[in-house]
Amino acid sequence: MAGAPDPLDGLDPDQLAAVTAPRGPVCVLAGAGTGKTRTIVSRIAHLIHAGHVSAGQVLAVTFTARAAGEMRTRLRALDIHAAQARTFHAAALRQLRYFWPRVVGGEQWELIDGKLRLVSQVANKLGLGTERETLRDLASEIEWAKASLIAPADYPAAVARFHRETPAPAEKVAEVYTGYEALKNRANQLDFDDLLLHTAAALEEHSAVAEEFRDRYRCFVVDEYQDVTPLQQRVLDAWLGRRDDLTVVGDANQTIYSFAGASARPLLDFTRRFPEATVVRLERDYRSTPEVVSLANRVISAARDRPAGSRLRLIGQRKPGPDPVFVEYDDEPAEATAVAGRIKDLIEQGVALSEIAVLFRINAQSEVYEQALTELGIPYLVRGGERFFNRQEIRQATAALRTAAVQSPTGELPKLVRGLLEPLGLTADPPAGGAARERWESLLALVELAEELAATVADADLARYVHELELRAQAQHPPTVEGVTLASLHSAKGLEWDAVFLVGLVDGTLPIQHADGNEAQIEEERRLLYVGVTRAREHLSLTWALARAEGGKRYRRRSRFLYGLIPENHPTARVAASATRRRDRGMPMIRHCRVCGDELAGTMAFKLGRCETCPVDLDHGLLDRLKQWRLERSKALRVPVYVIFTDATLLAIAEQCPADRAALVSISGVGAVKLDKFGQEVLSVVANATRSSGM
Ligand code: ATP
Ligand code: MG
Repeated sequence: MAGAPDPLDGLDPDQLAAVTAPRGPVCVLAGAGTGKTRTIVSRIAHLIHAGHVSAGQVLAVTFTARAAGEMRTRLRALDIHAAQARTFHAAALRQLRYFWPRVVGGEQWELIDGKLRLVSQVANKLGLGTERETLRDLASEIEWAKASLIAPADYPAAVARFHRETPAPAEKVAEVYTGYEALKNRANQLDFDDLLLHTAAALEEHSAVAEEFRDRYRCFVVDEYQDVTPLQQRVLDAWLGRRDDLTVVGDANQTIYSFAGASARPLLDFTRRFPEATVVRLERDYRSTPEVVSLANRVISAARDRPAGSRLRLIGQRKPGPDPVFVEYDDEPAEATAVAGRIKDLIEQGVALSEIAVLFRINAQSEVYEQALTELGIPYLVRGGERFFNRQEIRQATAALRTAAVQSPTGELPKLVRGLLEPLGLTADPPAGGAARERWESLLALVELAEELAATVADADLARYVHELELRAQAQHPPTVEGVTLASLHSAKGLEWDAVFLVGLVDGTLPIQHADGNEAQIEEERRLLYVGVTRAREHLSLTWALARAEGGKRYRRRSRFLYGLIPENHPTARVAASATRRRDRGMPMIRHCRVCGDELAGTMAFKLGRCETCPVDLDHGLLDRLKQWRLERSKALRVPVYVIFTDATLLAIAEQCPADRAALVSISGVGAVKLDKFGQEVLSVVANATRSSGM
């Protein structure tokens, strides 16, 4: 492996002990940023180089698609390509598809995306409320029960044992759970929990299957082991059989999924199960400045009832940096505007877009930041870093397309694809924003890929198209997407950025309202703050707003977790919002429609620079040419077209025909980075089109 970096390079003695431990059980118990993920990746490489296993026999699992992607990237950097790094679900899905014909036979199942549709049918029949909130709570209960290996009949006793609040009387929830399972099974469908259940069962009950599997995989690694559920543990046990080639790493202080059945117990009890295990504790924090590390230590030392084994103190290894900033605002829009302004400053100082994150407690908080960043022309990703083909909607779409391709349908390829994606959320009009919008954009990218294929390969049919998708997914064309990350604290686990903005830190949001009165839940919320703080390498900002709406009543108060953290005479502790209000920054408060002059509302309207309903004088020829240009660029860069420019931005360009860079950059969605990358080309497409049409 000439030129491959040495996996032992740069490791400290404690990390080295974990990496070079002989094959067999290893447990790394350590705080955030101490190099746990780096250690397991190096251990995998070391075991392979030392000839203990071949790369193809390694299975590394973690909890989010993003973290799995991160692990693959780090493995590839060490020149390890065949080792698998997946989420538990993705690994199970793959195995189940392979073993199913032998274990069950007959028709393949269909994977359902969520539980809401079926839960709603059952709740309706049982006369329970069918408001979205209730349905979501019922679905979460079923998820918790399945993750905890609790059958419907045992649910009432289990919730009593765990002192769990239920969205309806426990017996009723159990009935919903029973009805849901029956409906789903009858329709030959599996949900995400079933993937794990069936995988474990296939290995437990079919010795030939288990033997083949265990011959194939010999070395197991689990990252973020503090968040393992009993169901995942069962799968892991089925994978292992009687073997003990298992490395686990985790930080009990980062357990943030116990509401979903996860528990740090297996991590903390690892040596009880494997008394001969090598145990390593790390305390040097390589990620963050001493200022950030000190704050992280203070956040977590306030935690109550920390179990033995989780009381580690981090020691910062990096050179000093700026102090964490705490700021209070009058209202949320002011907070978002100020954060966006601060991000702009960082970008101007040379911090890369992809090195900046805004993290919040619930996804709904994202919208106001999307708007604020859009207004300043700063590109963002609602789920940064997740690979296109790993996205849930893309995996579902691929599955649906694959199923349809079996029937060899005829017709125009892009139309066929669009039709098949409609039920998955590709509506005729784009949803207003948030996750639905992103899903829509991703699905649209698949249609555009079909258009591209139809244009380049004569007679390309659905099967050919699915083949193309699979090739691309396997090659994992890394996205060259550049943007600020907007993500929930839960999904930020394991990741790191140079600059992190923890926003919306008010009581009722963090800790979340429904945790009130339940100490265990409050502690989980505190750990979420710890996870957030420890994502930052250098710049860390913690902000909150007293009112939700602009100019609204200031009835909220800062998160209770912040009280002990803010120094008494901290200079920025009480910056009045007015100082950073948009009007005071010399920016217009409101933008107006360039057609009717009305105030603009909504992200789409901002992007277009006009009300969505206002008539426009559009040069369709120019729009077509811009689309053609975008398609060529996306092919060359191997990214989905919307990564270059979204449809809305392209439409805005075609409508406004910018003549120079200043006009182009004033269009929403065209930030500094895109201006540099594509500005010249776009301007010449526009110039050529207007010249040829005689305008
Ligand atoms: P988390 O608990 O948040 O998942 P972690 O313990 O997995 O954190 P890593 O992500 O592996 O930590 O490492 C944090 C950062 O420190 C990474 O950027 C990593 O490259 C760097 N790092 C780890 N070990 C060392 C080392 N020995 N020398 C220099 N940098 C290191
Ligand atoms: Mg990690």
